[in-house]
Amino acid sequence: MEVTVKKNIFEKKGLPVGIWTKCMKCDNILLQKDFEENFMVCPGCGYYARLGARERIEFIVDKRSFKEINAHISSVNFLDFPEYSNKIEKSGINDAVVTGEAKVGGYSVVIAVMDFGFMGGSMGSVVGEKIVRAIERALKKKYHVIIVSASGGARMQEGIISLMQMGKTSAALAKLADRRLAFISILTDPTTGGVAASYAMLGDINISEPKALIGFAGPRVIEQTIRQQLPEGFQFSEFLEKHGMIDIVVERKNMKDILIKILKFFYDR
Ligand SMILES: [Zn+2]
Repeated sequence: MEVTVKKNIFEKKGLPVGIWTKCMKCDNILLQKDFEENFMVCPGCGYYARLGARERIEFIVDKRSFKEINAHISSVNFLDFPEYSNKIEKSGINDAVVTGEAKVGGYSVVIAVMDFGFMGGSMGSVVGEKIVRAIERALKKKYHVIIVSASGGARMQEGIISLMQMGKTSAALAKLADRRLAFISILTDPTTGGVAASYAMLGDINISEPKALIGFAGPRVIEQTIRQQLPEGFQFSEFLEKHGMIDIVVERKNMKDILIKILKFFYDR
């Protein structure tokens, strides 16, 4: 399993990598195995390490049930944006979302999971296209859809094409709603910009992890625009739940059980 927390300090000190890890927040040294068993949440301070798409899938879906779809679509530097081609090549993964079919508690779903590790989970043409194709697969198979978001927003290197993905993904979700198939949206830290302003907030049920940053623009920009001080906890999941933007904040260790309950409700009705 790929680890998203710092491990360089162990390499520097000549300690074996992969056995120990360090919490990004409280600097606690943890056994990698314990950390993974605790769903990559620090037992000391409760910090949620950011997960890559594959790790997230492993935590949510039934073992060996995930079948990836459209894995090989990758971005093209159509605006000749400086350094963009290099960034895509260097990352080693195709883009900021992994999509596929899977089972959760025995219920078939189409699932799309974003990866903040790929260019800040930014949404460009590939993310939009893969999400839409995933939704189309769900329409064809009459499956409900789960999308796990983690994104800094639209991908500037693809200009207006990135912004277009907001409308494109929202339109696909409208078709899903017409067919009375559910969309369960899981918002993780951070879900911002064009992703928050499109599909991430369009769930029939919007779930988030604790203390996740969720919003469109950053707090400083908002404060400068409205010339008011923002309330405490603004743009974090608990605040959004209290104000009706998020339906439920769920701890990572309970996420799968909650999803099974929701899927049971939608499939067995
Ligand atoms: Zn910690």
